[in-house]
Amino acid sequence: MSALPHLIVATRNRHKSTEIRALVGARFEVLDATDFPDFPEVEETGTTFLENATLKAVAISRLVDGWVLADDSGLEVDALDGRPGVWSSSFGGVEGDHARNNARLAAAMAGVTERAARFRCTMVLARAGAVAADFSGTVEGRIGLEPAGAGGFGYDPLFVPEGHELTFAELGGAVKNTMSHRARALAQALGWLAAHRD
Ligand code: IMP
Repeated sequence: MSALPHLIVATRNRHKSTEIRALVGARFEVLDATDFPDFPEVEETGTTFLENATLKAVAISRLVDGWVLADDSGLEVDALDGRPGVWSSSFGGVEGDHARNNARLAAAMAGVTERAARFRCTMVLARAGAVAADFSGTVEGRIGLEPAGAGGFGYDPLFVPEGHELTFAELGGAVKNTMSHRARALAQALGWLAAHRD
């Protein structure tokens, strides 16, 4: 059994926890909600990333010992006045259906020349039902003309990060983890945990 302390990520999205696990390395053993079949589904009733990350972190941290990390994230597109934003996972009409989400985004952006966009991620650390800290990361980029690449998840096939010509899905997880909104928020969270370890 691993002697590492646990970091429990309050998500059933294995793509998120896989990215987080790679970034955390040997500092923690990363578990997620799929390791705890009894965890309830936490309703994301907030209207901001911070509200939703807080809801998830607080609810799950009441059920386990140790640190819980929640990630709420999404894509903001300038030409769509910041949408899909907090509602990124259901933009196409079906929660978590990435193909539909990308199809709707590609259709909404057809013929649009202003293609600037960014991913945002807010992370909340909580323990025993109390929030300890929150962190945010962003990555700027643009929406590609059509989906490209097979890596990653969500809008990765349509997101071209600044300074690159390929999408996150084409660049792959290792490159994405050097610059992503999630990597940037997590770097702060890991720094905080290193300074507040008991
Ligand atoms: P959440 O689970 O409510 O935080 O929703 C996150 C949604 O935002 C995902 O379902 C994706 O649609 C989108 N998203 C967040 N982070 C990423 C990413 O790293 N790549 C692609 N899409 C992302």
